[in-house]
Amino acid sequence: MKDPMQSPKNNTPRLIAFAIAMVIILLFNILIINRLTRQKITEVPYSTFLQLLDAGKVKQADVEKEQISFTVDQGSQTVLFTTGRMDDTDLIGRMIRSDVEFTTSIPAQSSPLLSFLIAYILPLVITLGIGALLIRMMNRRMGGAMSFGKSTAKVYVEAQTGKMFSDVAGEDEAKAALSEIVDFLHDPGKYRDIGAKLPKGALLVGPPGTGKTLLAKAVAGEAKVPFFSISGSEFVEMFVGMGAARVRDLFKQASEKAPCIVFIDEIDAIGKKRDAGSGLGGNDEREQTLNQLLSEMDGFDSSKGVVILGATNRPESLDQALLRPGRFDRRIPVELPDLAGREAILRVHAKEVKMEEGVDYRAVALATSGTSGAELANIINEGALLAVKEGRNRVQQKDLEEAVETVLAGYQRKNAVITPQERKIVSYHEIGHAIVAACQSHSTPVHKITIIPRTSGALGYTMQVDEDEHYLMSREYILDKITTLTAGRAAEELIFNQITSGASNDIEQATKLARTMVTRLGMSEEFGMTALETVTNMYLGGDTSLACSEATSARIDQEVMATIRSAHQKAMEILQSHEQKLHELAAYLLERETITGEEFMQILNRKDGEVAEESPKLSDNFSGNTTDPEV
Ligand code: ADP
Ligand code: MG
Ligand code: ZN
Repeated sequence: MKDPMQSPKNNTPRLIAFAIAMVIILLFNILIINRLTRQKITEVPYSTFLQLLDAGKVKQADVEKEQISFTVDQGSQTVLFTTGRMDDTDLIGRMIRSDVEFTTSIPAQSSPLLSFLIAYILPLVITLGIGALLIRMMNRRMGGAMSFGKSTAKVYVEAQTGKMFSDVAGEDEAKAALSEIVDFLHDPGKYRDIGAKLPKGALLVGPPGTGKTLLAKAVAGEAKVPFFSISGSEFVEMFVGMGAARVRDLFKQASEKAPCIVFIDEIDAIGKKRDAGSGLGGNDEREQTLNQLLSEMDGFDSSKGVVILGATNRPESLDQALLRPGRFDRRIPVELPDLAGREAILRVHAKEVKMEEGVDYRAVALATSGTSGAELANIINEGALLAVKEGRNRVQQKDLEEAVETVLAGYQRKNAVITPQERKIVSYHEIGHAIVAACQSHSTPVHKITIIPRTSGALGYTMQVDEDEHYLMSREYILDKITTLTAGRAAEELIFNQITSGASNDIEQATKLARTMVTRLGMSEEFGMTALETVTNMYLGGDTSLACSEATSARIDQEVMATIRSAHQKAMEILQSHEQKLHELAAYLLERETITGEEFMQILNRKDGEVAEESPKLSDNFSGNTTDPEV
C-alpha cells in the first residue's frame, strides 16, 4: 500500500514548516549559543597567569597549542580564563609545584575548513536529522495532523484475516448469529432483491479474552471480504477533530471497498455515555468522534454490503444512541466457554503443538472452570514450554496440569525462602481446607493440595475440581464453600493458637460469596428475594453498586458477618473432630509438598489403627501447642 504522506499535495505545508524550523535553529545557534559560550572567557596576559599560578589560585589548566585555558576559583564560582601560550620550559614544573590539575589537548594539525565544518555544519546536520525524525514521529502519532485537519488517508484494511469459524471453538450461538452476516456479505444482492434490510451493525459483547476480535476476523475470513479494523482507543489519542476525520475517512474507504467489514474494537473508548453534566467539556473530542460515527452509520446504505462490527467488554457504559435500531442493534453475547467449549478450545490450540497421544482434554477443561479462551490458549503454550524445558518433544498430560496451575496461580517459586515454621503453618492451613471440603456433602472434591509457593503470592493451595460443570449453585453449596474457605484459618487457630495473614484471599472470597448470597441471590432469611445490589460491570470483575438505604446496608453487613462467623464455627467443629487426621495429613503434605486428591482421601478414610509408615507424627517443637486441644 502506498504511503499517503508521500503525495505532493500534502508535502507543501510540511516543507514550509521545515524551512521555518531550520531558520530558527540556525539563528539560535549563531546568536545565542556562541554569545553564551564566549562571554565567560576572559583573556589575560601570560604574566597574570603566572601570578595566579604562583599564588595557587589556578585550579585546573588545559594546555593547548596556541593558548592555555585555565580556571580560577573566585569565591563560590569558577571563572574561565585564557592566555597565549609562551615558550615556557618551566611551565610543567610550575604547575606541578602549584598543585594544578592539568591536561593537554594539542590537536593534530586541523584545517580551518574542518573546524568550521565541526563547529557549524555538524550540529546543523544533527539538529535537522532530529527534527525530521520528530516530525515523522508526530505525523505517525497524529495520523498526519501536520496536514492540518485534512483527511489522513490512512489505510485500515487488512486484505485477508486468515481466520475462519473453525479457528473459533465453542461460541456456537455467536457463530450462528454471525453466519447470517457472512451470508449477506457473500451475496448482498439476494437480500436486496427481496427488500430485506440486514442490521447495519452487530455488537460483540463479552469478557476479555473470549474471542470477540477473533470472531470478527473470522466473519471477514468466511465471507472473503476486506476487513477494516480500528481500535476505539486509536480515536481518542489524537488532536481535537482528528477522531471525527478518521471516522469519516474510514467509512469513505469502506464504502469504496464494499462488501466489507468495518470492525471497531474496544468501542467503549469512544462510545461511552455522553454525560450531560460534565461542565468542563473535557471530552469534546470523544463526543465529536462519537457523533461522527453515529452520523456515518445513519448515512450509509447498508444494502451496499458494509457491515459494522463492534466489540466491547463494557456494554453497560455504551451510549444509548449507539444501540438504537439502525446502528448496533444486534447484540451478540460472547460468553466465557462452558466445559465443552473449553475442551474444544484446548483442542483447537493443541493442534498447533505436538501433543502426546491420548491427552485428556476434558480433565484439563474441568480444572479450568471460569477461564477464557485466551487463558486456555495460554495454557497449551505454557504446557509446550514446560515440555521443552524438560527436554521432551511432545506435550504430556502433566505438562498441561502444571500449565493450568501456572496460568491460574502463577509460576512456581521453588527458591522462595520460607521458614520451616511457615511451611508447617501452610501445610495445616491447606489440609484444613481439604478436610472440611471432604467432610461436607455439597463440596467439590479435592483434586490436589500443594505447598509449593507461586508467583501470585500464594504459599500453597487446595485445588478442587468437580466431576461435572454446574450452572446452578444451591444455597447449601455456597454455604459449604464459605465454610471450606474459612477452614484454613480455623486450622491455624486450632493447632497453633495464632492467626496469620495467609488467609487474606480466603477471607476476601468468603466475604464476596456471603455478600452475594444476601444482596443478589435472595438467600438470606432477613431480606428474602430483594435485590440489594446491582452489577455495574458484568464482564470486568463484576463491580456492584448498592441499591438500598444506609440502614439496610448496615443490616446486610450484619448478615454477612453472621454467615461467615457461623461457617467459621462449623469449620472449627469439623477440624476439632478430625484433629488426628489433620496432624497426620499435614505431616504427609509437609513431606511431599504436593499430594493428589486420591492420596488425601485414602489417608483421611483410613481407620485409626492402620498407621502408615510414611507419615510420621510431627514433633511438637514449634511455638503453637499441638497438645492443647482447647483452642
Ligand atoms: P477478546 O477480543 O474477546 O478480548 P480475542 O479475540 O483477542 O479476545 O482472543 C484472544 C486469543 O484467545 C485469540 O487470539 C485466541 O487465540 C484465543 N481464543 C479466545 N477465544 C477463543 C475461542 N473461542 N476459540 C479459540 N481460540 C480462542
Ligand atoms: Mg479484543
Ligand atoms: Zn486458604
